[in-house]
Amino acid sequence: MTQIIDGKQIAAQFKDAIAEAVADLGTQDIKPGLAVVLVGDDPASDVYVRNKGISTTKAGMASFEFRLPASTSESELLELIESLNNRDDVDGILVQSPVPDHINYQTIVDTISPTKDVDGFHPINAGNLLIGKDGFVACTPLGCSILLKQTNTELSGKNAIVIGRSTIVGKPMAMLLLQSNCTVTIAHSRTVDLAAKCREADIVVAAVGIPEMVKGDWIKPGAVVIDVGINRVGTSESGKAKLVGDVEYASAYQNASAITPVPGGVGPMTIACLLYNTLKAACARRGIAVPDYFSDFI
Ligand code: NAD
Repeated sequence: MTQIIDGKQIAAQFKDAIAEAVADLGTQDIKPGLAVVLVGDDPASDVYVRNKGISTTKAGMASFEFRLPASTSESELLELIESLNNRDDVDGILVQSPVPDHINYQTIVDTISPTKDVDGFHPINAGNLLIGKDGFVACTPLGCSILLKQTNTELSGKNAIVIGRSTIVGKPMAMLLLQSNCTVTIAHSRTVDLAAKCREADIVVAAVGIPEMVKGDWIKPGAVVIDVGINRVGTSESGKAKLVGDVEYASAYQNASAITPVPGGVGPMTIACLLYNTLKAACARRGIAVPDYFSDFI
């Protein structure tokens, strides 16, 4: 029987563990703090930032929100980042992307202290992942590996394919699978005969952004499928945006041994991993170990 990997439930359990760890730190007068910066008024970003703030507070952490007008200059934003780098009550800093065109996002990321880079996008953290040194791992791929762990799949020696090579999802995901001793193929828009490459994979991670691009008959019988894609395709009967992943779910389900749904798979894990990284940053800055609640996840 195919296992539906319930990201909503796993994220809720992971967040509970984070809240317990935060409560533990509270007994030592430590309250992890996350600063989220939003520049401009992109409606989707506004929702993400609000949700991050709510989850941060729910976990018992301090949430600091900075909403800046779209006219904010790059140097003004850099000044704010520098001040957050120096604040003792801020353990994690995140600048919501996209930023307005006149601001270079990479310059902003490069300015965030690597010790507070809870998105894991700073070159130091990306490099640490590459060389297998501990650091902050980007939240979405970290969430995918936690979901993989819940399937009890032995990863060592398995063929994995990551479809998509973005810096925030595809590349770090490939590094994590490599660390788990998978043989990893990174596929992208120029890959020739993707279907054949996919059919060889025991683990398929799709992070493309094209609705249902990965067909069910590309999935090898027994493969584990992690669908990162979130694609809006019209509205459902209730008037809500209808979301589908990058994988043709119904037909892939027939072949897979385990699969994430969209919505309710990878999506809920991303914010949970952001909170985990903030907890980790708070502990690392104080030279203490992360409280031991995470052996089922990390
Ligand atoms: P991106 O646009 O930065 O990268 C897409 C990648 O897909 C590129 O590397 C490109 O080479 C590859 N690609 C494009 N067309 C292809 C094709 N025909 N065949 C094979 N590869 C192809 O996107 P991203 O930021 O990595 O996001 C990917 C998807 O994941 C999007 O749907 C996004 O909304 C979703 N996403 C979800 C979460 C989450 O929390 N669940 C987080 C980040 C992104």
